[in-house]
Amino acid sequence: MTSAETWRVNWFPIEKCIEFIEATGIDCFAPAIGTAHGMYSTEPVINFDRVKEITTRKAVPIVLHGGTGLSEDTFRRLIQNGCAKVNISTKLRCNLRTVFGRTSRASRRSMIRSKLIKSGSARR
Ligand SMILES: [Zn+2]
Repeated sequence: MTSAETWRVNWFPIEKCIEFIEATGIDCFAPAIGTAHGMYSTEPVINFDRVKEITTRKAVPIVLHGGTGLSEDTFRRLIQNGCAKVNISTKLRCNLRTVFGRTSRASRRSMIRSKLIKSGSARR
């Protein structure tokens, strides 16, 4: 059994997911569905049925983690099954590193501070 198969066998049971959602009253839920943070070395096997089963039983928006590298078709299918929030961080960080990697530390700080001030998130 591969590590991916072992992981799937040990997924938190749907029944326990529903119990958790009900017990906590959470506004959204991010179950294990086959995605992971970081870059995929092989095509991930997404469990679309798991997303559908949870959202069919509980009207809770599903949050996707590990969106970097997924195809447009995968995003569409996940959204059709109840995914309401998609997180894509690794690719964004890589792009930022590429851009900021060419600048000095002082210049990076200045750029970030200027962006934060424009958005009203930093003290002036
Ligand atoms: Zn995440």
